[in-house]
Amino acid sequence: MVSYQEHTSNTQLIDWIKEIEALCQPEEVYLCDGSQAEYDRLCQDLVDQGTFIKLNEDLRPGSFLCRSDPRDVARVEDRTFICSEKEEDAGVTNNWMEPSVMRNTLAGLFKGCMKGRTMYVIPFSMGPLGSDIAQIGVQISDSPYVVVNMRIMARIGQKVLDVLGNKPFIKCLHSVGSPLAEGQADVAWPCNVDNRYIVHYPESREVASFGSGYGGNALLGKKCVALRIASVMARDEGWLAEHMLIVGVESPDGEKTYLAGAFPSACGKTNLAMVIPPEGYEGWKVWTVGDDIAWIKPGADGRMYAINPEAGYFGVAPGTSYDSNPSAMETITTEYNFHQCRLNG
Ligand code: MN
Repeated sequence: MVSYQEHTSNTQLIDWIKEIEALCQPEEVYLCDGSQAEYDRLCQDLVDQGTFIKLNEDLRPGSFLCRSDPRDVARVEDRTFICSEKEEDAGVTNNWMEPSVMRNTLAGLFKGCMKGRTMYVIPFSMGPLGSDIAQIGVQISDSPYVVVNMRIMARIGQKVLDVLGNKPFIKCLHSVGSPLAEGQADVAWPCNVDNRYIVHYPESREVASFGSGYGGNALLGKKCVALRIASVMARDEGWLAEHMLIVGVESPDGEKTYLAGAFPSACGKTNLAMVIPPEGYEGWKVWTVGDDIAWIKPGADGRMYAINPEAGYFGVAPGTSYDSNPSAMETITTEYNFHQCRLNG
């Protein structure tokens, strides 16, 4: 039995954890503290379980290879739903379902879905801890892979609960959707590909994700919160949450300029964000502020100010090489989890 009172006085959070525990029926509940020791322990668990393969400590220190189920290797836009009260608020490119209908469907799927697994509670902050521009969420997940990657992608753990206090938070529920029978051994990549749902309730600021363990389907702080839920908060509050890179440029005489750029997925945001000044631009400096998401707010001076709500990178890198993006290649030399689909099942 976890003693939540030692870690938080947020009764809304404590009640929600108990409600989800009763619904999902995990073996145990674990509140993540976000420490290095916790990260190391979970990575070792993932190695023992066959999910992670530790890479050569000399060549790729602190890095792991993870091969997912070959059917669970991408975000599933066709299984992604915006369940706003009104269909027109979902936007023309999104799937919509009436929230009450979706809640019923998901209640059936989530019932008992964590049997035999640990239910991790992951408090996370998108944006710097304690910043008035940041947003706090709590993700519940039965995937240790999610915990370790959320620690790379966002600020997580006890320090987030300390900042949250008794305030409301974005509720994010995730399950790989593959409960274990008594004594059943786990597979390297548990998932439930025939029943995947990535669901957003924009009015109540909630996310529910079922059946996938992969990237943006499962690390709910990124696409689900920092883009989809945040875009609704932004619309209500007069700012913007956009799928944009942010790059800083400094000229040889010290003039700083920031550039934000909106391109779709897999069109080079990361490459441009990490660009190195080419020949003929000696003395220029370029640095990456963000490679995927920008939260943009108007300042009192009439200018636009932007932050990257993420604290790390999660990207697909087909074709990424020292030719296309040497900065990215240098970035992934240490403390990086390589995610690869398994080619032959
Ligand atoms: Mn993206």
